Amino acid sequence: MAQVTEVGKIRRRVLAEMARMTYEGTLQEKIDDILETVVTEQGPRYRCCVHKERAVLKERIKISLSQSLDLSLKEAAANALSGEIVGLPIVNVLPEACDRCPIDKFIVTDACRNCVAHHCINSCPKGAIMVVQDRAYIDKTKCVECGMCKRSCHYGAILEISRPCERACDVKAIHAGKDRKATIDETKCVSCGACRIACPFGAIVDRSMVVQVIERMKTDKVVAMLAPAFIGQFGVKLKTGQVIEAIKQLGFAEVYEASFGADIVAVEEANEFIETKDDRSFMTNSCCPAFADMVGKHLSALADRVSTTVSPMVATGKVIKRKDPEAVVVFIGPCIAKKGEGLRNKEFIDYVLTFEEVAAMMVGKRINAAEVTASEYTSMASRDGNSFAKAGGVMQAVLDTVQMTAPEVVVKAHHAEGLGNCKIALLQMKAGKIDANFFEGMACEGGCVGGPATLTDVRVTSKFVENYAATSVAKVAPENEPAMDERKKVVDFHQHHA
Ligand code: SF4
Ligand code: SF4
Repeated sequence: MAQVTEVGKIRRRVLAEMARMTYEGTLQEKIDDILETVVTEQGPRYRCCVHKERAVLKERIKISLSQSLDLSLKEAAANALSGEIVGLPIVNVLPEACDRCPIDKFIVTDACRNCVAHHCINSCPKGAIMVVQDRAYIDKTKCVECGMCKRSCHYGAILEISRPCERACDVKAIHAGKDRKATIDETKCVSCGACRIACPFGAIVDRSMVVQVIERMKTDKVVAMLAPAFIGQFGVKLKTGQVIEAIKQLGFAEVYEASFGADIVAVEEANEFIETKDDRSFMTNSCCPAFADMVGKHLSALADRVSTTVSPMVATGKVIKRKDPEAVVVFIGPCIAKKGEGLRNKEFIDYVLTFEEVAAMMVGKRINAAEVTASEYTSMASRDGNSFAKAGGVMQAVLDTVQMTAPEVVVKAHHAEGLGNCKIALLQMKAGKIDANFFEGMACEGGCVGGPATLTDVRVTSKFVENYAATSVAKVAPENEPAMDERKKVVDFHQHHA
């Protein structure tokens, strides 16, 4: 999790207010009040005036309602309350909020000594550097942003600056538009959320379904499915049973752990690996949607290496819907990209919320999880299933399962975290420079516990997940009998592409 900045606090405050009003049934009537409660006349002020602050806030609320920016707040609230979700991208730039950050890539700082050697001038292949008022000066009309000058200066006086959002995006999907406002290219974006964390102006927002979920709870049986990374998220001192009970108090009828489906996935993926190992030089996991999307959109020649096994979210959704086709399934996790994966699997996943959104719902419903009484709780998954939350966990689960079911098969596993690192590793594997036949790719550093919508430090939750996983009775996936039983009952755990 990134440090909680003012941007994060505003985002959470808005979500909590929206949740409170939806629970109280006053959202449509009172939605405009959020503008005044979150942006008060007294400040603090981050932009030029209260009107600008509120204009930004209006856009933020509409995206948080999953509604178009063209609507009034009241219209947007009415649509969200009726269950409507417009076809917005998962990750959006708020036009009012984007500060059109500077795009001069190289600048000469006060550290320039106007030295005799002038390595910068000599290094520039375009003759773009001259001395003006005793300091090197870069002529932007000639500069091709090659960075030679920066590398050549012995004082480090030339600074490379780039927009935080662009720098964060490993797939180069975000760039300055004609008006210098950030624009996301949907054909390249994999909804990883890295730009949302990076933007210091809070100009990048993921759409939310908090209001739609709360409304469904008033009429339907809504079931929560917690991502394996939930351990430690809602307070490091909380018992797991308290978290489960607090989630139920939000209005969820039942709570499942997606790690239950992770055990099914581990077995399916192990079998798929064994069956296809002679047909492809390596196989990758498919459970991280941003990683799988990155392969599909940016390394399409390797698309056939991605496992066809569904993710633990979809596997668990299939189990819940088999047991009760009327159940409304809500996945709750650390991930923004899962919102897209949920939309692609509407048959099994009705809504996707993040830990951040659920924490805001607790604030909105005035639930203090620390005060909730809960009985002992035992995990629904094996040690390996629970370990899907951490980088290296999927790899280990598949390895353990292959070793248990087909010990003669050799698995040489490799893993990487961060989309840029995953891309490099995949290309090296393709070129035969890494001796591995199974690859685990995770878009977030540390795995899902490092996701963009987590609430607690990745190092802390990583340890918590490890401790929780150690309490599981079953150690490897095939030992989880209820999950293996469900595996037999649900016919298909694979994606079939046209
Ligand atoms: S970081 Fe990007 S999105 Fe954020 S204000 Fe700057 S240009 Fe706009
Ligand atoms: S791929 Fe990630 S960082 Fe790049 S634009 Fe999309 S959400 Fe932002």
